[in-house]
Amino acid sequence: MNYAAKDTRYDTMVYNRCGAGGLKLPAMSFGLWHNFGYGSTYSNAREMVLGAFDMGITHFDLANNYGPPEGSAEETFGKILQSDLGKYRDELIISTKAGYYMWPGPYGDGGSKKYLTASLDQSLKRMGLDYVDIYYHHRPDKETPLWETMDALAGLVHQGKALYIGLSNYNREELMEAVAILKELKVPCTIHQHHYSMVYRENEKLLPVIEASGMGAIAFCPLEQGILTGKYLNGIPGDSRAAGHSVFLSEKQITPETLEMTSSLNEVAAERGQSLAQMALVWALEAGRLSSVILGASRLAQLEENVAALKNREFTSEEKRRIEEILK
Ligand code: NDP
Repeated sequence: MNYAAKDTRYDTMVYNRCGAGGLKLPAMSFGLWHNFGYGSTYSNAREMVLGAFDMGITHFDLANNYGPPEGSAEETFGKILQSDLGKYRDELIISTKAGYYMWPGPYGDGGSKKYLTASLDQSLKRMGLDYVDIYYHHRPDKETPLWETMDALAGLVHQGKALYIGLSNYNREELMEAVAILKELKVPCTIHQHHYSMVYRENEKLLPVIEASGMGAIAFCPLEQGILTGKYLNGIPGDSRAAGHSVFLSEKQITPETLEMTSSLNEVAAERGQSLAQMALVWALEAGRLSSVILGASRLAQLEENVAALKNREFTSEEKRRIEEILK
């Protein structure tokens, strides 16, 4: 099948500037953490990626270890690039990361120059790319001097293997220190990626550092892996992440308190003419002062529903008050 992207792909997506730099990101990006490994159906993975691009989602978020097994999501994405999407390379922002365990021995984990350099070469090979747009250090590594990690990232930008640097899961102090080093190295940090959702707001404290240094912010798990969609309100659907398709979400996390809260949020969403997923996403964009939220999905229909949320991004002060009351 010869894929041709829809002419309408840029008609409705919102693009936000990523901090003070030149890069713009779609308000909704697509992450390939789940449903792109060897155990997933290729036709579904392809349909989601191409469907996302057709809706103006130009940014795809990967990491060396996404799968399972590690590396397989990048391989799947590489296959889709080769067969369909590669001709649109200049319209795409492709991100990958290194920082978690990837291969045995002392060089397959952490934040050393050796690991970050070798891992990016492997990622490029798996995806069939000459460069990635954003290369992230996936999590801080206390064993490696921060200077070495930043120097490695800046070096990869100088070599043209990455256009922009990103950091993920850094705390406030680590981020301040990293930003200062990168300033010295004259390669800015473009973006910080952190966990953020209606029920996980701790990372709001990173915003002053992010904004003062001209970075953009992007959130992962904005729907708490599906909990904030209301899909668990009437039991655990057999084909859901909590039903056992992931080691990262279990039925135990769907507590009666969580259900009570999502049920109340669901009522506010319904009055806004939105699903809970839609309201949670636009709420996160605004409250988290985000350039983009990274969507996860197991099927294209979820992406379609979630992107449609952008039609109603405004909250009245009464809606905000009610939401805060529920989240207390
Ligand atoms: P979400 O919190 O948005 O959860 C996505 C999941 O929720 C989907 O896979 C689907 O699960 C369910 N879902 C989504 N939309 C709907 C809908 N409209 N109706 C019903 N169910 C829905 O995001 P993820 O947890 O997937 O994370 C997103 C991305 O963030 C990842 O792919 C990755 O790129 C990035 N990430 C980065 C991390 C980091 O350390 N930097 C850590 C974690 C993620 P299902 O249908 O299977 O139930």
